[in-house]
Amino acid sequence: MSLLIISNRLPFTINHSGNEITLVPSSGGLVSGISSYLDYMKHSPVSDFEYLWVGWPGAYMEESLQKNFSSQVRENHNVIPVFITEEEMDKFYLGFCNSTIWPLFHYFPTYARFEEEHWEIYKKVNKYFSDKICEVVKEGDTIWIHDYHLMLLPNMLRKRLGNKFKIGFFLHIVFPSFETYRIMPSAWRKEILEGLLGADLIGFHTNEFTYSFLRSVLRILGISNSLGKLIYQNRIVKADTFPMGIDFKKFNNAVNNKKVEKEREELKSKLKDRKLILSVDRLDYTKGVINRLKSFRKFLQDNPDYIKKVVFMLIIVPSRIGIDQYQEIKNNLDKLISNINSEFGDLDWQPIIYQYKYVAFENLVALYNLADVALITPLRDGMNLVAKEYVACQKYSPGVLILSEMAGASNEMPEALLINPNDIKQTADSIKEALEITKEDAFLRIQKIQDRISYYDVLEWAKDFLLGMDKVKNENNRIE
Ligand code: UDP
Repeated sequence: MSLLIISNRLPFTINHSGNEITLVPSSGGLVSGISSYLDYMKHSPVSDFEYLWVGWPGAYMEESLQKNFSSQVRENHNVIPVFITEEEMDKFYLGFCNSTIWPLFHYFPTYARFEEEHWEIYKKVNKYFSDKICEVVKEGDTIWIHDYHLMLLPNMLRKRLGNKFKIGFFLHIVFPSFETYRIMPSAWRKEILEGLLGADLIGFHTNEFTYSFLRSVLRILGISNSLGKLIYQNRIVKADTFPMGIDFKKFNNAVNNKKVEKEREELKSKLKDRKLILSVDRLDYTKGVINRLKSFRKFLQDNPDYIKKVVFMLIIVPSRIGIDQYQEIKNNLDKLISNINSEFGDLDWQPIIYQYKYVAFENLVALYNLADVALITPLRDGMNLVAKEYVACQKYSPGVLILSEMAGASNEMPEALLINPNDIKQTADSIKEALEITKEDAFLRIQKIQDRISYYDVLEWAKDFLLGMDKVKNENNRIE
């Protein structure tokens, strides 16, 4: 019996250079969270733990090379690649996933494109995944599908494999309110819900998302539920809330790692006693970076005493640059940063240090640990793992987390300074409050959040979800 993890991206990406193929580890919350769980299971006393990870390997490969490559990576890394051509990937990933679902689900309906061709490719790619899984699945396996790229897959598999298999689905992004979800063309919105209902268990980060999903199922499919359980095609299906955690110990322990300590000391000496405000995001219009910068500018305008006494380090990881809105946000960001730096800065001080690149784990931990304030202000976010990682890295002299109430993570963090990211003045005032908070208050706030997120970490989250799948399966066995 194996656990089959299914996600759009595999934990590595193929890199072609000349004739040589190398594998580069992928990044991001989903991959690192699931990898932590798999590592834990591999080293636990459950000696018969077996798994396979099915996903897109990040690049296309000539058909003649695919077979050999697939057997090598299955043997050495327990992964099964699903090959998708570049043209298909363009319409699937940049098209339907990130120009339809992503903007609509994050309440940016005016950015959402509804192109029939993209929808057809979305169905086709979900079918490629279902073909691949049917080739490798064995009786008794558990299939755990992840995220918005594969919402049709649960029902495709259910139709082909029947009721003997356990199928779970977890959505890592927001599920929007019915009034927003219904904006999607009628056939698509119906087929996506039916696609999800092929699973035994459908998981969301927050109760609001679970509720919104159930409301859409009622309004669009006419199926009501009792405490999240409903009957679909003579099976019990459950929708429930599982707020994804992080590998708390990994982040917390890394603070004392020699490389991290060295990096932190170097950064500290460069700061010259200035307070550090930090933010870390992928480039995305949902992350609220423009409003964040406006809030920082207002903070400097309202509190000139802080000029030359703070530095705002803004780290943006490049993402989805093939989509117009991402290029637009990047241009607006560059302009605003340069305006603020020229308005307030001089030869020996720049208020904003901007890095447009990916930051490796040790450097990130050093920054988290050193920052006096983390300023995390998404306009909408399914969870926001960066907020949890920042809290996990607070040791000895904890900093303060300013967090948007629109991030899923805010539900588990009432002790953070919660702000509405559209309220520039409130955010600016919170920066001042965070910088002036007493050490005792900062310590107590961080400690309470740490207690919560160290308990319900990514391992607990994965175990809880998998146990939830077993429970639904057992109930279904009883009624069969
Ligand atoms: N991350 C990273 N290096 C960076 C920036 C981000 O490794 O330079 C990781 C970060 O540690 C976190 C993930 O990327 O685990 C971002 O997850 P989050 O939920 O905050 O946002 P998402 O990008 O999934 O919307």
